[in-house]
Amino acid sequence: MIKKETIYDICIIGAGIMGASIARELGQYDIKAVVLEKNPVVADETTTGNSGLIHGGFDAKTGTINAKLNVLGKVRYEDWFKELNFPYKRVDSLVLAFNEFEKNELDVLYKRGLANGLKAEEMEILNFEEILKREPNISPNVVGALCCNSSVLIDPVMLSKKLLNNAIKNGVELKLNWKVANITSQTDDVMEVINDNGDVIKTKMIINCAGHWGDEIAKLTGTTDFTLKRRRGEYRVLERNTQPQINSVLFMVPTVYGKGVLVAPMLDGRTLVGPTAEEGISRDETRLITTSKYNEIGDIGTRIVPGLKMEYTCYHFSGSRAIWQEGDDFYIDFASQNDHVINVAGIKSPGISAAPAIADYVIDMIKTKIKLTNKLNWDRIEN
Ligand SMILES: Cc1cc2nc3c(=O)[nH]c(=O)nc-3n(C[C@H](O)[C@H](O)[C@H](O)COP(=O)(O)OP(=O)(O)OC[C@H]3O[C@@H](n4cnc5c(N)ncnc54)[C@H](O)[C@@H]3O)c2cc1C
Repeated sequence: MIKKETIYDICIIGAGIMGASIARELGQYDIKAVVLEKNPVVADETTTGNSGLIHGGFDAKTGTINAKLNVLGKVRYEDWFKELNFPYKRVDSLVLAFNEFEKNELDVLYKRGLANGLKAEEMEILNFEEILKREPNISPNVVGALCCNSSVLIDPVMLSKKLLNNAIKNGVELKLNWKVANITSQTDDVMEVINDNGDVIKTKMIINCAGHWGDEIAKLTGTTDFTLKRRRGEYRVLERNTQPQINSVLFMVPTVYGKGVLVAPMLDGRTLVGPTAEEGISRDETRLITTSKYNEIGDIGTRIVPGLKMEYTCYHFSGSRAIWQEGDDFYIDFASQNDHVINVAGIKSPGISAAPAIADYVIDMIKTKIKLTNKLNWDRIEN
C-alpha cells in the first residue's frame, strides 16, 4: 500500500513562547499542525533570557497592538493558570522615581495604564513612607512609586514546555533539530519547507515565530516586509538566603532603552538584577554575557536596594529583544506576497505577557484562510 503523503495545514517555525502558545491553542482544532525548532530543546533563546514577568500593562504605548495584547494576555493567563499547572506568583510591581522629573513620569504611566484598559484599583501612587512600609530595604533616594498589583512572576521556559506538551497531547507534532533552511511554493496551495539536511515537509500555511531569525525566514517566503534589530539585556542572579528582603518587583522609571531595569524576587527564592540594554547586537550574539556589563548590573541593583550583596552572584545570563526596525510595535501580519504566511515578529517585551492573546489573535487570522473545526475531545488540562 502506498503511504499517503502528509500535508500539514499549519507549520509553525520556532518553539519559543510564541510558537508554543500558538501550537497549544491550535490543539483544540481538527487540523494537522507541526512545530519546527532548530535547537535540540525548546524555548532556549529569548524565551529563556528575560525577566519572566507578566506585566500589568501600564507601560506600553496606548493604541499599539502590544499595549492591547498585554492587557488581554494578562486576563487570558487566568485560564492558563487553571489549565496548564505551571508555577506562578502574583506580585506587586513598583516603578520607582528618584527625582521630581521621574515622579511626574509616574503620573504619565498611571494615566497610560487607565488608557490601556487597566482598572483604577490595579494602580496606586505611593509616597516614600508608604514604599518603605512595603520595602524596608529600598534606597532612601526614592521619592515616589507607581504600584501595580496585577503583575505575575512566571518561568517562561517551563510554561513553553507545558504549552508544547499540551499541544502534542492534542495531536500537534514537534520536530527538534529541524532548522528551516529554505521554503518553496509547490503549488498555490502548498509550500515545501526544507531543513539543512534536505528533509522536506509540506504545508498549507506557515506561522513564522522564529524570533531573531524572523526576517530571514520571511525572506525565504519571498517577502521583505520588515527588518529586525536586537537589543541585548544582561542579568545577574543573586544566591538565595544572602540578600535583604525584597517583596515586590522594583523597577526604575522606563527610559527609551526599555522599561525592564529591575530588582526582583524570583520564583526559586533567588534575586534577579538587570537587564542592561545594548544596541547593535548580531544574531549570533543574542545570548552572550560580557565582563563589561557585569559591574553595570551591580550599579543598577545597589542604586535600587543599597544593601544588595552583589558578590553573591551565582549566575549571569542574557537575552535580546527582537525589535521591528520600521515600527514601534509587535509585527504580526500576513506576508504581503503570500497570504498563507503569517509573520509573528518583533516580539519584544511584553511578549510573554501578551502570549495567550497573541495566540488568539493569530488564530483569528488563520480562521480567515482555513476552516477551523473544534475537536470534541480537546484535552485542555496539562498536569
Ligand atoms: C532582556 C529581556 C527582558 C524581557 N522581559 C520580559 C518580561 O518581563 N515580560 C514580558 O512579557 N516579556 C519580556 N521580554 C520579551 C520576551 O522575552 C519575548 O517577547 C519572547 O520571549 C519572544 O519569544 P519568541 O517565541 O518570539 O522568540 P524566541 O524565544 O527567540 O523563539 C524563537 C525560536 O525560533 C527558533 N528558530 C529560529 N530560526 C529557526 C529556523 N530557521 N528553523 C527552526 N527554528 C528556528 C529559535 O531557535 C527559537 O527557539 C523580555 C525580553 C528580553 C530580551
